[in-house]
Amino acid sequence: MGTPLLQVRGLCKDYAMGDSVVHALRGIDLTVQKGEFMAIMGPSGSGKTTFMNLLGCLDRPTSGEYVLDDVRIADKTDNELAQLRNRYLGFVFQTFNLLPKTTALRNVELPLLYSPAPDSSARATDALRQVGLSDRAHHRPGELSGGQQQRAAIARAIVNDPMLILGDEPTGNLDSRTSEEILALLQDLNRQGRTVLIVTHEQDVARHCNRIIRFRDGRLVGDEPVADPIDAREALKSLLDPNADL
Ligand code: ADP
Ligand code: MG
Repeated sequence: MGTPLLQVRGLCKDYAMGDSVVHALRGIDLTVQKGEFMAIMGPSGSGKTTFMNLLGCLDRPTSGEYVLDDVRIADKTDNELAQLRNRYLGFVFQTFNLLPKTTALRNVELPLLYSPAPDSSARATDALRQVGLSDRAHHRPGELSGGQQQRAAIARAIVNDPMLILGDEPTGNLDSRTSEEILALLQDLNRQGRTVLIVTHEQDVARHCNRIIRFRDGRLVGDEPVADPIDAREALKSLLDPNADL
């Protein structure tokens, strides 16, 4: 069955809203193996972002268990969680979240500031190369297209060589061709052995993953493998060459 990277049991998250309580997650059970590429789907407000934030150790559950690579998250201090995030996790967001006045290269170097090393700049340069953005290293986000900004954000996510990449609608702001390019990169990272979890509203995007789970009203209501995932590089080839199938 493989090795579990994350195990979640009875995970609940409540938010206090004035006098009332929002039950954003109502008891999630989930195991994700190392090397999976999983999509999280579900209507707006169903708890997807809340769940990603918990998996990313950006927030703590109200109750329930979360074990990441044999580490019980509940036992960790906030400082230890920050170190864990830095070492294990890479984040990609719908709106890229790059610092606007800072070059692509400097943005990618940011996660390395926590543990400065003499090779920080070389590592950031290499991460940009991996996402095909070497020639834009000294551009600011405003001088880059949406797809290039998301590439820079992916470079930032992988610069620490994380085992888990979390993307909250990483293609949500991109056209379909650019989405396919970003999915190709995420598939590359997955094939290199990283576990990748993305939230998406689009079935077409989810079909690039190996497994799709579905949320509704804070509950996990579906969990299926994808029989024959779309290969983004193949899809890009046929986009580039409309006669490819003739
Ligand atoms: P999704 O990402 O699937 O759209 P969210 O996880 O963002 O869903 O939200 C789940 C529920 O929790 C929604 O009802 C939302 O309004 C509520 N919620 C999310 N974040 C907060 C917060 N910080 N404070 C109060 N309620 C929140
Ligand atoms: Mg969301």
